[in-house]
Amino acid sequence: MTDTRTKTRVCLLGLGAMGTALGRAWLAAGHPLTVWNRTPAKAGALAAEGASAAADPAAAVAAADLVVLCLLDDSSVEQALDGVDLTGKDLVNLTTGTPAEGRARAAWAQARGARFLDGGIMAVPPMIGVPEAGGYVFYSGSPELFAEHREVLEVPAGARFTGADPGFAALHDVALLSAMYGLFAGISHAYALIRAEDIAPKDLAPLLTEWLGAMGARFAAGAAERLESGDLTTGVVSDLAMQAAGTGTFLRTAEEQGVSAELIRPYFELMRRRLAAGPAEHGGEDTAGLIDLLVGR
Ligand code: NDP
Repeated sequence: MTDTRTKTRVCLLGLGAMGTALGRAWLAAGHPLTVWNRTPAKAGALAAEGASAAADPAAAVAAADLVVLCLLDDSSVEQALDGVDLTGKDLVNLTTGTPAEGRARAAWAQARGARFLDGGIMAVPPMIGVPEAGGYVFYSGSPELFAEHREVLEVPAGARFTGADPGFAALHDVALLSAMYGLFAGISHAYALIRAEDIAPKDLAPLLTEWLGAMGARFAAGAAERLESGDLTTGVVSDLAMQAAGTGTFLRTAEEQGVSAELIRPYFELMRRRLAAGPAEHGGEDTAGLIDLLVGR
């Protein structure tokens, strides 16, 4: 049997799908675990596996060194910890939020005498406690807290520290998820184009995977280099003028196939605007130049 006496005492507030998966991983690693959930019945499964179910958040927090929150949103964190004594506690908030919410929550925790780390989970519940699944959590906030509890934090999933600014974990989380939705939009449009034809979606799938892997990696690395150097034109092989001229083909193809172009049109519109702002100046640019339009430059 695992010796739990020397292990960090963890308390977990929030036993939804993600919280339950996290709790199960800490229990399996031998950490004494106290849990609390607004709807008490949901604590039953982890209690049966060895967790102590606390009657309220204050009792759960009092029983732990490391307090982990995995609730629906930032306002549920506020409600759950309202009036709870956090003096001397280490708080890790794995509730998804915005960067501003992370920063405000860090100041709020500090004012209550707690150290604070915000987290953004890059995994779904079945990936938790399964190292080979590759899931991880972005952390930001107190570097001391992170260094001290790193091993415990790495039990459910990998841990990546993004900086002392408590907003950075949320920012990395949302940046990656936003890119993912752009990818989903493109894939959805591609499947829509073949929907009416005698082409099996499962035959297109590996082609999409291969193409997006190659082009995604190329654009992510290339755009980073251009944003850092400020050089948008050297060595460009597919410039904005050429790509903008080609957008008509994509829109006409969508029309021919009876597919709405609403998912791809906004990106084409950015190309048109950038070019219209100065054909000579911007025509030879890489499409990384469109990023400036998004931030109003
Ligand atoms: P669930 O909807 O399964 O669970 C939500 C949890 O929040 C429940 O424990 C619920 O309690 C609690 N809750 C909601 N409102 C309040 C409140 N006002 N006061 C106290 N507790 C409250 O969500 P997940 O477990 O899936 O997600 C939790 C967090 O993890 C979210 O921020 C989510 O974005 C993040 N996450 C989830 C992923 C996933 O795939 N599931 C992936 C990455 C991040 P009750 O049981 O009483 O309703």
